[in-house]
Amino acid sequence: MKLVLLGPPGSGKGTQSELIQAKYKILGISTGEIFREAIAGKTKLGLSAKSYIDKGNLVPDDITIQLVKERLNKPDCKNGFILDGFPRTIEQAETLQKLINIDLVLYFRLDLDTAINRLINRRVCVKCGTIYNTNFYKKQNCEKCNGKLSVRDDDNMDTITKRLLVYNNQTYPLTEFYKKLNILKEIDSNRTVEEIKKDIFKILGGLK
Ligand code: AMP
Repeated sequence: MKLVLLGPPGSGKGTQSELIQAKYKILGISTGEIFREAIAGKTKLGLSAKSYIDKGNLVPDDITIQLVKERLNKPDCKNGFILDGFPRTIEQAETLQKLINIDLVLYFRLDLDTAINRLINRRVCVKCGTIYNTNFYKKQNCEKCNGKLSVRDDDNMDTITKRLLVYNNQTYPLTEFYKKLNILKEIDSNRTVEEIKKDIFKILGGLK
C-alpha cells in the first residue's frame, strides 16, 4: 500500500498516519518530522530548512524532493508507506508520479476556523511525538510515556496564518491533480479522531 495524506495543517494527517501505521504495520514518512529532527540535530539540512519553516514557508522543492527520493530508495519502503506532508506542490507531485505508483491519496478536508483552533491548541509529546489537543486533553504530560508536552515552534498565530495561506495557494491545487488521476478520496476532517479513523479504515479495508 502506497498512500499519500493530503490536507491543511491541523487536519489530523499526523494523528491518522500513526493509527494507520499501527493497524496495517506500514511505514510512515513525514517530511515535516524529518525536517524537525534535522533542525534538532543541527545538520546541514536542518540549518537550511529552519529559516523556511520558522516563517511558515515551504522548504524549496529541490531540497525536499531530493530528501524524499533518498528516503524512498531505502529498503524499508519496498512494502509500502504512508507519505504525510509530501507532496505539497505540483512539482513535488509530478516528480513523485514519475518515481512510483501511488495507490491512494486521502484528502483531509477541513474548515479554516477548525484548522486554526486545532493548531493553536496542539501539543506534542517531546519523547514519543504523540499529538494532543488541549480542548480534550488537560494534562501536561503524555498519557503513553509521561513525556512533557510542548508547543511546536511553528504553532503560533503568525506562522499558522502563513502556513494556511501557503497551503491554499500551493498545496490545495493537488486535489485537482489527484482527482484527474482517479486516486483521490475525500475525508471530512471536521470530526473526531475516532470518526475519521473509522472512515479511513473502511476505505483501506476495501483496498485489500
Ligand atoms: P508539517 O509537520 O507537515 O506541518 O511540516 C512542517 C513544515 O515543514 C512545513 O510548514 C514546511 O515548512 C516544511 N515541510 C514539510 N513538508 C514539506 C514539503 N513536502 N515541501 C516543503 N516543505 C515542507
